Amino acid sequence: MKVLVINCGSSSLKYQLIDSETESVLAKGLCERIGIDGRLTHKPTGKDKVEIETAMPNHTAAVSLVLKELTDEKNGVIKSLDEIGAVGHRVVHGGEKFASSTILTDEVLKQVEECNDLAPLHNPANLIGINACKELMPNVPMVGVFDTAFHQTMPKEAYLYGLPYEYYEKYGIRRYGFHGTSHSFVSKRVAEILGKDPKDLKVVVCHLGNGSSVCAVDGGKSVDTSMGLTPLEGVPMGTRSGSLDPAIIEFIAEKENLSLHEVMNVLNKKSGVEGISGISSDFRDLEKAAEEGDERAYAAQKCFSYAVAKYVGAYAAAMGGVDVVAFTAGVGENDSVIRAMVGEYLGFLGIKIDPEKNNCRGVERVISTDDSTALAMIVPTNEELAIARETVALLK
Ligand code: ADP
Repeated sequence: MKVLVINCGSSSLKYQLIDSETESVLAKGLCERIGIDGRLTHKPTGKDKVEIETAMPNHTAAVSLVLKELTDEKNGVIKSLDEIGAVGHRVVHGGEKFASSTILTDEVLKQVEECNDLAPLHNPANLIGINACKELMPNVPMVGVFDTAFHQTMPKEAYLYGLPYEYYEKYGIRRYGFHGTSHSFVSKRVAEILGKDPKDLKVVVCHLGNGSSVCAVDGGKSVDTSMGLTPLEGVPMGTRSGSLDPAIIEFIAEKENLSLHEVMNVLNKKSGVEGISGISSDFRDLEKAAEEGDERAYAAQKCFSYAVAKYVGAYAAAMGGVDVVAFTAGVGENDSVIRAMVGEYLGFLGIKIDPEKNNCRGVERVISTDDSTALAMIVPTNEELAIARETVALLK
């Protein structure tokens, strides 16, 4: 079956058309500046990349353009839309309603909408993408794959905050966690690579990208994760602060004369490694600056790595040990400096990073020394493939 995977943001839409039998990507691309002007970058496998600047007043127009390119005589990869057997949608927040992927019926869409409060920047955009696809492909089954679903197995002690319990009951304030599709994919892949049953493994997945989260996967199930009610909690990220003393919010508001909304904007967009370094949210820029002697860039790298390592330590306690620490996503897969810095703290688990094995990018491999008693690995994530697999599995 050919599955169209859609990841829809407020002004952008990423897509991949995947052949689920061969698990190959037939085409992928990105619509940007939807509702502003509109730009489509379309990469059909085996053909030239196409860039089109054209009006995209809304998401329906963007999806319509994508479908046109997919079936285009020159740039297309399929003859007709009938070849698309299903659409898999990334949905950011499924609250406590969705512990697994679900066929997006009208009833389900209502329930997704009820989660909008919990992810006001993401879920409404996801819904717009779903509705645009439904409008243009009314007879094709649509499946929702939730970032939060994998973490619904967390025990209560991991998901409750130390707040009045009625806030959990009334508003659903609890830890939900994100990047679930990636944490699930990577932890399963770790078991496959090692030829083990996921039930027999304790894995800490470090999904380190622009947004970063760490997850404890015990016996194939998420038992704790660093992101919380929203993707702001956890390690310091590209521009997000991660966890901090909650009293800092009021303190900054008073000192800088900012509204609550403005402080939250600082925590989301001006903090993290960009805030600490004053240079960039991109770890490549930090590495270059640190090499040239910039102390704040180095401090940003260290704060980030230290925070990641602290979560690994916490999850070793939560799971009563760790068999594998797996690095994934943009930074985890590519940044050998950060992996080495995190690795420096992992001696207590019997993990020592081998500098030679670690000197690589984007490959699946063990990077700990042969005499380590637990493993450190790089396992590239593939959220789109995971969404396509979920979609097919559900429809079967
Ligand atoms: P997102 O959260 O947007 O999905 P990604 O997982 O794609 O993020 O990660 C993007 C980040 O990965 C970039 O901002 C950059 O910091 C980092 N990155 C990508 N390539 C490299 C590299 N070669 N070395 C270091 N960091 C890299």
